[in-house]
Amino acid sequence: MNFKLLGTAAGGGFPQWNCACNLCDLCRKSPEIVRPRLQLQAAFSSDGEKWFLINASPDLRFQIETHPELQPSALHGKRNTPIQGIILTSADLDQVLGLLLLREFQPLTVYATRLIRRTLEANSFFRMLERVPNQLTWVEIHPGKAFTLDGKVICTPIPIPGSLPFYARKSGIHESGIEDLAAKEPGQAALGLLLEADGRRLAYTPSVPEVTDTLRSMYNSCDAILVDGTFWSDAELNRTHSGTPMARSIGHVPMSGEDGTIALLAEITSPRKTFVHINNTNPVLDTRSAEYKTVIDAGWQIGQDGWQLN
Ligand SMILES: [Zn+2]
Repeated sequence: MNFKLLGTAAGGGFPQWNCACNLCDLCRKSPEIVRPRLQLQAAFSSDGEKWFLINASPDLRFQIETHPELQPSALHGKRNTPIQGIILTSADLDQVLGLLLLREFQPLTVYATRLIRRTLEANSFFRMLERVPNQLTWVEIHPGKAFTLDGKVICTPIPIPGSLPFYARKSGIHESGIEDLAAKEPGQAALGLLLEADGRRLAYTPSVPEVTDTLRSMYNSCDAILVDGTFWSDAELNRTHSGTPMARSIGHVPMSGEDGTIALLAEITSPRKTFVHINNTNPVLDTRSAEYKTVIDAGWQIGQDGWQLN
């Protein structure tokens, strides 16, 4: 299996358009020192030809144009795509906005829980994906229940504690019954993914609100784990922009501290431990920082745009 990281930044990307924090400023002035990053996006393939996307980032058009393996081929006619399907792990805007960039009458297959599907269907923008018959095919997936892609990759959705995106909560599109469905069928709003092929296992969990025993034992069975690296510390966002929330309150265990991911996952023996979904406020973005050194010394890597794991 080929697994590619096409973007590694948290929502907003790096630098973020309205941010002049030290890191965003440094990234704009000295990109050779602190590299810019696109918003989180991953893709995988069992044969290097047919690809599946994990979510659809707002930077997706650019991510496709910088990776030839995701581009159409004139050998297959004037309109085609090697993208066989898109697996959605939540209905957050950062994960689904790119779907709107994939309209152009292209048939698409989207794998999602019923709750995520209903959340998108309640938004009229997404009707652009259903303008002609058979344009959009939904495949329902269930937390904890494995399904096979392309006959080779076994994909298991991992339930992650998480709520509906802000836009889908009360006073948003409540009248559509999304919140009722979320309450009736919990565990469908946010997922991680476990991918297995050729006896190898990879866990993709860019959002970790809590390090549970279940998560830990799954990580222990993997050859590679990609973990929530949004924040270094709980108060980091709040310190940069006052009035913004603490990391844990928005569902991200920070990297540092006794109860941070580095400490809580110190025992994990997986050969490859990588942080992804790095927020523009996270000091590890500067490879000269003490925080970056701590991460590397602890046996972790900071994922980079364009990385491929085979
Ligand atoms: Zn910033």
